[in-house]
Amino acid sequence: MKRAVFPGSFDPITLGHIDILNRALSLFDEIIIAIGVNADKKYMFSLEDRKKHIEHAFKNQPKIKVKTYTGLTVDFCKAEHAKFILRGLRNSNDFIYEQSIAQTNSSLADVESIFIICIPSLSNISSSIVRDVIRNGGDYTKMVPSSVFI
Ligand code: ADP
Repeated sequence: MKRAVFPGSFDPITLGHIDILNRALSLFDEIIIAIGVNADKKYMFSLEDRKKHIEHAFKNQPKIKVKTYTGLTVDFCKAEHAKFILRGLRNSNDFIYEQSIAQTNSSLADVESIFIICIPSLSNISSSIVRDVIRNGGDYTKMVPSSVFI
């Protein structure tokens, strides 16, 4: 069973995340969307809401599971018997950031990081931009799946 973990905060999940996940489906038998819980971080959406948004968006996709975790992503991968970490890349800043994380993860455990480059029309979307638009009363409905605003 080829199982991948797609870790992130998903505060909230965006169409960028959805695109990466849909394109990764043909590579893996199962993808676990892993919502990282960091007690020191302030989130806009509660953990329950973030989980609900994702579950609803993928309710017809049996290959995708949604779980939460604390601690190191590699420890979660080991516990879930996942050999792959899936990440999306939007630009060179993402690459620089992801490179050191992937190198650290592979030194800590037997996991391979797999990167998918996002499509140009979604490269401007990030959860933090969505949160900014929400805070300032803008229309964010074209950046997220409908489960986030229904
Ligand atoms: P983190 O808190 O780790 O930054 P995020 O929830 O923001 O988590 O993102 C999780 C993953 O999704 C990361 O690999 C990130 O690069 C990727 N991602 C976020 N937005 C996009 C997008 N618009 N297109 C492609 N990948 C994206």
